[in-house]
Amino acid sequence: MRFQEYFKDGKKPIISFEIFPPKADKGMEPLLEILPDLVALNPDYMTVTYGAMGTTQHKTLEIASLLKNFYKMETACHLTCVGASRTELNDILERISNAAIKNIVALRGDPPIGEKAFVPHQDGYSHAYRLVEHIRRFEKLRGKEPFGIAVAGYPEKHIEAPSLEADIHNLKLKIEAGGDIVITQLFFDNAFYYKFIEKCRDAGITVPIIPGLMPILSVKQIKRITSMCGSSIPHELRLELDASTDDDEKASEIGIRQCIRQAKELLQYEVPGIHFYVLNKYSHIRKIMEALR
Ligand code: FAD
Repeated sequence: MRFQEYFKDGKKPIISFEIFPPKADKGMEPLLEILPDLVALNPDYMTVTYGAMGTTQHKTLEIASLLKNFYKMETACHLTCVGASRTELNDILERISNAAIKNIVALRGDPPIGEKAFVPHQDGYSHAYRLVEHIRRFEKLRGKEPFGIAVAGYPEKHIEAPSLEADIHNLKLKIEAGGDIVITQLFFDNAFYYKFIEKCRDAGITVPIIPGLMPILSVKQIKRITSMCGSSIPHELRLELDASTDDDEKASEIGIRQCIRQAKELLQYEVPGIHFYVLNKYSHIRKIMEALR
């Protein structure tokens, strides 16, 4: 099923899990071990990220294909513009399509660590909306069934954007280019999501906007991630976390509680679904799913 088909009747919230391909080969085994457990939690679909600089292209497709064709779990490949020429994009799109994968999360990607500005491939794209246009052209020219396409949205604005309004204007370009749904960057204060929805609707964006939630696993991890993506940690949560800086178990308990609290409130608000960044771990997402059932 394509992304948009999940959200058509709006009868129940659609739950999705995002996992990432490990950088090193040795990381693959632990991921493969927990895949059946994640599948057994019965998300509606799962998505597999594309490593920084497009480094995990083959593993992304391998894992997505395993989910789709062995576990019969609907899945999406993430795809970025980073370092990719149009020919290379066509090649990977052909392989995604041949693996019977129907959904793509289309992104620009980040500049390499230490570099501020994003430099596109000389025969590639500088923004995600151009990648979405490319995918739609590819389908037409090769007579393919259209993919379901998700694009990224930022309730606290993208780190490079001059304002939330400018960022939402650019988000609209991605929808006009053919994006079917929006998945948001992680946030820890639902108020950002509610405000974002209001502003997106005012700007004429009508597609489903799925909140993305990331359970905290350790203080170090969440500080690193939020410093890169620009999401803020509310004062009270930060105080709680600061008291458990060297204790990952305690931090993870706080993270699970926070994630359940956020998810329950969002479900009451009748969000179309929730996208969980599960960080290739099982026990915390199991606890979260149990609490939500
Ligand atoms: P864009 O939509 O191109 O936006 C990037 C910046 O350019 C924004 O500031 C935007 O406002 C601005 N902009 C857009 N269009 C224009 C325009 N026409 N003129 C001027 N400015 C413009 N990264 C990975 O490497 N791999 C992944 O698998 C991955 N998965 C992700 C999944 C989700 C749900 C999210 C939220 C992010 C993910 N990322 C991933 C991170 C993402 O690549 C970065 O956030 C990246 O910096 C921006 O990607 P984008 O697709 O939002 O880019």
